[in-house]
Amino acid sequence: MDETAGGRLLRKPMMQRIQGLAVAHGVAQGRAVLMPGGGDVARYHIEPEQAPLELARMGSARDAAVRELDGLRAAMPADAPAELAALIDVHLQVLQDEMLHGAVARWITEHHYNAEWALTAQMEVFGRQFDAMEDAYLRERKADLEQVVERVLHHLRGAVRPEPASEGGEPRILVARDLSPADLLQYRDGAFAGFVTEAGAATSHTAIVARSMGIPAVMAARGVRQLVRPDDWLILDGDAGAVIVDPPPGVRAEYQARQREMARRDAELDGLRTVPACTRDGHAVQLLANIERPADVAAALRAGAVGIGLFRSEFLFIGRGADLPGEEEQYQAYRAVVDGMQGRPVTIRTIDIGADKPLDGTHAGQVANPALGLRAIRWSLADPPMFRTQLRALLRAAAHGPVGVMFPMLAHMSEIRQALEQVALARDELAARGAASGAVRLGAMIEVPAAALMAEAFLRHFDFLSIGTNDLVQYTLAIDRTDETVAHLYDPLHPAVLRLLEDVIAVGERCGKEVSICGEIAGDAALTRLLLGLGLRSFSMQPTHIPRVKQQILQAEVGALQAWARQVAHADEPRAVLDQATR
Ligand code: PEP
Ligand code: MG
Repeated sequence: MDETAGGRLLRKPMMQRIQGLAVAHGVAQGRAVLMPGGGDVARYHIEPEQAPLELARMGSARDAAVRELDGLRAAMPADAPAELAALIDVHLQVLQDEMLHGAVARWITEHHYNAEWALTAQMEVFGRQFDAMEDAYLRERKADLEQVVERVLHHLRGAVRPEPASEGGEPRILVARDLSPADLLQYRDGAFAGFVTEAGAATSHTAIVARSMGIPAVMAARGVRQLVRPDDWLILDGDAGAVIVDPPPGVRAEYQARQREMARRDAELDGLRTVPACTRDGHAVQLLANIERPADVAAALRAGAVGIGLFRSEFLFIGRGADLPGEEEQYQAYRAVVDGMQGRPVTIRTIDIGADKPLDGTHAGQVANPALGLRAIRWSLADPPMFRTQLRALLRAAAHGPVGVMFPMLAHMSEIRQALEQVALARDELAARGAASGAVRLGAMIEVPAAALMAEAFLRHFDFLSIGTNDLVQYTLAIDRTDETVAHLYDPLHPAVLRLLEDVIAVGERCGKEVSICGEIAGDAALTRLLLGLGLRSFSMQPTHIPRVKQQILQAEVGALQAWARQVAHADEPRAVLDQATR
């Protein structure tokens, strides 16, 4: 048993394993570097005449934090994930919020708290207010506030951020209570071999950045900072979500062998970049990329994507306040993607605002059930001038290469009618002013059960369907995809979901029209054979997932998978049948 002394766990000299969440794939080994902060905060009363000094300390720590974030924003690499600039801006806004600073100043001047205590006392007040909020999106913003407070505390302590390993030195693993996406970006250039945090969730923005950096990461590893001491040897298993502290030589060697094997496999996968995705029995499969902004085209091409299957155009709009992109700016962005893909097909989804992607707090975020409210196509149809501005930009971009336009969250035939009317009107508007436009393929996203059940009727109006399984699972199972309290019920392998997928794919086949999947399951290599067996021939995913999915495709024989896939889809417990499969 461990005993505690002075707040630190005393360990017997034996290997310890901590289970967290598997957030970013891979294995790393190295010496632990503990990120300062997140621990005890100095709390003491000051003399009233010391208040100006504490206020000044607070002011300089805030300024230093602002400079740090400004610097990060300016140095942001071109291929940084789309939401990052917006997130850094949110942190800057919180940092510069006068209400926060006024409240902290009052703790100092009226209650005579030292600066650190004043800041954390106010954080607790705001924290309780966030916890009481009904809206899940706003509740989650508490994490932003905590990360900002941590950054300021860090400067108040005068602490130095951990330095990366010196060149040629032993690899290092960063252990922190929490890391913001901006923190991770700071260490983008290979500074650490892996990251472990006590806080966080697999779908957080920090997790998204860790995955995009291609570095193993484990989050929600509770107690890791108590167990790990600086320079302890750690093994980080990003696939199992485990952290192993002080492994004996045998375990280290075993993981080294696994690392070598993974490196060999990654190199092998790199070699697949230009190999066409075709099964052993000759079924060609289309592997497309999901992107959030034009700069992501580079990653798509690097991964060997044969086109863009989902450009989430709303990321051009989010975080812009009242200054939304107009027709010309949108046209330039869409055209940059079309040009960048050099003749390969590009499918752009019209703005999917609302629910967990509110446009600066307007509309969604203030209603009881935003996921069921005015979002996606409903939003666009509620604002025809804005919708047509986007459609004109899309039609103009289509003059430069093959473009597909698809509409999110359609459920009603009347929505289809209205959306297509808006496309025709936008085309007329361009013609009236003599502007060039191109032909577009039109598609519907299948994201609600109503749409899945109506797929055949939808295809009378569209050239293709794209199944958004992230939402289809949410709406089929009535699970809010952002609510961690019901996350254990969110199951893409629920038989109802699989049967909807099977049906929609079969309808596409019957009608001779393309059906693809662009939700996260398309990039899950563990499900590739199942989806192939169900008849799917077009997958759209984060570029980093393409090589692994392609490898599965190259090894698959569709003829041998079909009966099994049907059996999985029609089982009461599909996961059990899938797990048994050894093929
Ligand atoms: C989906 O719902 O599966 C999808 C691809 O759209 P988003 O994740 O952007 O809602
Ligand atoms: Mg969706």
